[in-house]
Amino acid sequence: MGLVVQKYGGSSVADAEGIKRVAKRIVEAKQNGNQVVAVVSAMGDTTDELIDLAEQVSPMPAGRELDMLLTAGERISMALLAMAIKKLGHEAQSFTGSQAGVITDSVHNKARIIDVTPGRIKTSVDEGNIAIVAGFQGVSQDTKDITTLGRGGSDTTAVALAAALDADVCEIYTDVDGVFTADPRVVKKARKIDWISFEDMLELAASGSKVLLHRCVEYARRYNIPIHVRSSFSGLQGTWVSSEPKQGAKQVEQALISGVAHDTSEAKVTVVGVPDKPGEAASIFRTIADAEINIDMVVQNVSAAATGLTDISFTLPKTEGRKAIDALEKNKAGIGFDSLRYDDQIGKISLVGAGMKTNPGVTADFFTALSDAGVNIELISTSEIRISVVTRADDVPEAVRAVHSAFGLDSDSDEAVVYGGTGR
Ligand code: ADP
Ligand code: ASP
Ligand code: MG
Repeated sequence: MGLVVQKYGGSSVADAEGIKRVAKRIVEAKQNGNQVVAVVSAMGDTTDELIDLAEQVSPMPAGRELDMLLTAGERISMALLAMAIKKLGHEAQSFTGSQAGVITDSVHNKARIIDVTPGRIKTSVDEGNIAIVAGFQGVSQDTKDITTLGRGGSDTTAVALAAALDADVCEIYTDVDGVFTADPRVVKKARKIDWISFEDMLELAASGSKVLLHRCVEYARRYNIPIHVRSSFSGLQGTWVSSEPKQGAKQVEQALISGVAHDTSEAKVTVVGVPDKPGEAASIFRTIADAEINIDMVVQNVSAAATGLTDISFTLPKTEGRKAIDALEKNKAGIGFDSLRYDDQIGKISLVGAGMKTNPGVTADFFTALSDAGVNIELISTSEIRISVVTRADDVPEAVRAVHSAFGLDSDSDEAVVYGGTGR
């Protein structure tokens, strides 16, 4: 008998019908002779709605209280799912993250899992139950407070449990048929990928392909847990994410380009009038780090000879924008700059593929595609297997489609299906 960990995203359990559909699917896995642990997200856009509600009460809600509020979303879906499974005549028990042994650090709203002690889950499935676990949440080892793992964190819960339980597979059920060469909501001609390496998936996820969370892929790579991303609305095979293509599976070659990702969740901060001398960048980014904010891209302009002043721009999640501005303003005298500019109308487009390091001309083709589409580039960054640019947010859909076509990624068969979700 095998043990499978399945994860169902918010769009798969958006309403009572969805919960009943998912319950049937879980029961089928059990009837096929497996022990089943199902990780579940909050219903539909519940998490966004709870955040909106919190912001109506307080523009910067306390992290601890926000976590208390948001974890309620997953509690609702886990209990309903357990009820729906019992209704089908099977035994199910639901568990919060804390009860499931998901132990984290104490950074509210983006805690990291530091240990998983799934004793209760193991006992529950050994007794013949289906265990339902609330995704996205844990408990701090130090403070014993309830924490959340950051948006999309149920993916990480699933992989962490799969590793701790030594599961045969971790299945991530969502509202599309797998990982595509671009977001199917933006590119109708996106192609489903049969197999993708952890490395390429990590870059796609880090660049905004939210079908899998970056941390979840990191975790899966560390513990070598194969992930099967597939739709909860269809019976189709999805995408395997693993270190090697599965033996016996149809021969899959590493593609030159895996896909195009986009991200409109970031903003750009420009620190204007920074003295061009050693230590300035250090004090700006120390200030940001002390506020526990992760940044993405950084660019420093050439300083104007006349003034000896320069500008430094960086990108960060929009959700951290206010905190970053407040922290920099507070240290303005110590750092020494003229002013701050904040721009949240930006978007990032990234081209990802391991084949890029050995193929000259990829960068040139990428920029040509963007220029042919009339897209202006504001920032650029590269890694061995990725090129990213920042543009105006409005240009993103057109730019993604242009790059996708230019690299021959468009499929000539069926259009990619999006089964549910609001894309929020
Ligand atoms: P869930 O609620 O199941 O966690 P998410 O909304 O977090 O679902 O992730 C699924 C969505 O990810 C899809 O509906 C799709 O719009 C988006 N997406 C972005 N990039 C990709 C990609 N390369 N392949 C598939 N889906 C993608
Ligand atoms: N409900 C959480 C969110 O919307 C976690 C998740 O869905 O993975 O971000
Ligand atoms: Mg998700």
